[in-house]
Amino acid sequence: MKEDVLVARGLRKAYGDRVAVHEVSLELRAGEVLGLLGPNGAGKSTTVGMICGLTVPDAGTVTLSGSVSLASDQAGYKRRIGLVPQDIALYEELPARMNVELFGNLYGMAPELLKRRADEVLAMVGLSDRAKDKPSTFSGGMKRRLNIACALVHDPEIILLDEPTAGVDPQSRNAIFDNLEMLKRAGKALIYTTHYMEEAERLADRLVIIDHGRVVASGTQAQLFALLPAAQTLHIEIDGEPDDLALQGLRGVTRVGQRLDVSVADIGRDAGAVLAALAQRGVRVRGLASARATLEDVFLQLTGRALRD
Ligand code: ADP
Ligand code: MG
Repeated sequence: MKEDVLVARGLRKAYGDRVAVHEVSLELRAGEVLGLLGPNGAGKSTTVGMICGLTVPDAGTVTLSGSVSLASDQAGYKRRIGLVPQDIALYEELPARMNVELFGNLYGMAPELLKRRADEVLAMVGLSDRAKDKPSTFSGGMKRRLNIACALVHDPEIILLDEPTAGVDPQSRNAIFDNLEMLKRAGKALIYTTHYMEEAERLADRLVIIDHGRVVASGTQAQLFALLPAAQTLHIEIDGEPDDLALQGLRGVTRVGQRLDVSVADIGRDAGAVLAALAQRGVRVRGLASARATLEDVFLQLTGRALRD
């Protein structure tokens, strides 16, 4: 197993009597994307804020590489982390390149190195030819990409991305995903918060599912899907609307108008039996489709609520 580059234990944060994060613990390993998935208000941004040192936790600790903490070495800690905040933070009237350099100066980078890195990160996010232009002339997607460049200029080992595709056009979104995959291949460790399960499924090696400020499950996607009673759903279109009596005794069936949704562990093994049982009850099947379970189903199973309202 790869080494943990970041370990958070028992993070907690309250604002007045509202507890934003009750108790969050997680580990981030070298070269992985850890997805932090949860609905709006779950406590993702507060958690990220505590990890990067912008928000002071009421309790809990974060340790990098087994020993570095904010208390033991604040500058060293911050140098290892790059943050792409949920809300874009740029100087709208300064050229893109100067924005990147301002971030680099926060880390006291030497001028030569800063110049080279600014070129590299602007090229990486596809903004080399707009380096002299002001963000105020950029699209939402371009601003996002510039914000990512700013977070990467000091070449951090750990990159925290807080909903980095919010307000982004599909083209920029794909460009951002390509960048993240490249960072991963370069051995960086990423924490990626999102309330989009499609993004989490595409990017995350492991996931921490968070709800109401608590971790409700964590693990690889396979481990999370294993929490479901069934891995797949059969969608069966039927003739007419059979009374529910006819469906009695069929396990895992939900009727939605003229469609039956049937949870099955293994389509190849179970579909035949389901169809035979329907035929026996005189239910005529007009169409058949299947879908694998999603992280949305996992969240529903764990919390009884949908990920998005
Ligand atoms: P998420 O990023 O998952 O949407 P947040 O961490 O932003 O969730 O928020 C978690 C909860 O904490 C929400 O109920 C939010 O309203 C509250 N919260 C977050 N930041 C503050 C703050 N600075 N002051 C008061 N309440 C806050
Ligand atoms: Mg947030």
